[in-house]
Amino acid sequence: MGKAKISLIEKIATAMRIIPKLADEGTPQLMQPGVQTKPFPLSAYPPVDKWDDWEELDPGAWPALKKRKYSIVPTTCFNCESACGLLAYVDKEDHTVRKLEGNPLHPGSRGRNCAKGPATKNQLDDPDRILYPLKRAGKRGEGKWERITWEQALKEVGGKIAASFDAGRQNNVVYHVGRPGHEGYANRVLQGWGIDGHNSHTTVCSAGARHGYSLWMKSDRPSPDHANARVILLVSAHLESGHYFNPHAQRIMEGVANGAKLVTLDPRLSNTASMSDLWIPTQPGSEAAVF
Ligand code: SF4
Repeated sequence: MGKAKISLIEKIATAMRIIPKLADEGTPQLMQPGVQTKPFPLSAYPPVDKWDDWEELDPGAWPALKKRKYSIVPTTCFNCESACGLLAYVDKEDHTVRKLEGNPLHPGSRGRNCAKGPATKNQLDDPDRILYPLKRAGKRGEGKWERITWEQALKEVGGKIAASFDAGRQNNVVYHVGRPGHEGYANRVLQGWGIDGHNSHTTVCSAGARHGYSLWMKSDRPSPDHANARVILLVSAHLESGHYFNPHAQRIMEGVANGAKLVTLDPRLSNTASMSDLWIPTQPGSEAAVF
């Protein structure tokens, strides 16, 4: 089987280093679908031209050699704001998602994900997923809920917000979102309404980093050119365990592979600190004084 043709857009993206060289990454042109009876070159992903109709053995059926047919559908992980690319393997028989893997053609994540990406399947299958609006039917904490329609939910919530506005009590309203992927839109709406009540997962999780970024770079989620940097400074950031953006982490590793010096400020000798050119073991909270 020959190599898949590289498109003009892919060539430009490769030249701009937005995506890796496709041939170097071993894009999935070499793997054949179905049961392999002869040795074949290893490949990390099914070839793109087979995504509509991909066939492979069901590992759960082992030792029986049961084939399954899939549509492979590109999608996005939203377990953090990196929004890495994923491929959903949709079973052609029952249309369920059987597994999720990294999307090698995603320009940010390039097929590499943290463990949370493929684990998205747990969310799809979670029996406790909330599939429709629920209204508390008992006392707070009693755990009693009744199903209501979307219309009722919007009417009740909208009615309470409107009543607060009418009474001039904007600060009665708090907006909480799990994963803010709206890029500031909801904030602007809230500010337009005179509400200072935005809260999210990242209000706690990355507030320190974002505050620092905002002060330093006027943007709370910048994308520095790590791969071409000469020096990379990490402040309590650990590539192997908890770096906020996986696409950044992989480019920091590229930068180091290209000769960049890695400096890590961290009270802890993390794995990343141990691999750094310079580890500055700060006292917790003293980093600002070091700067
Ligand atoms: S870094 Fe992990 S959790 Fe975040 S978007 Fe990528 S795969 Fe998902």
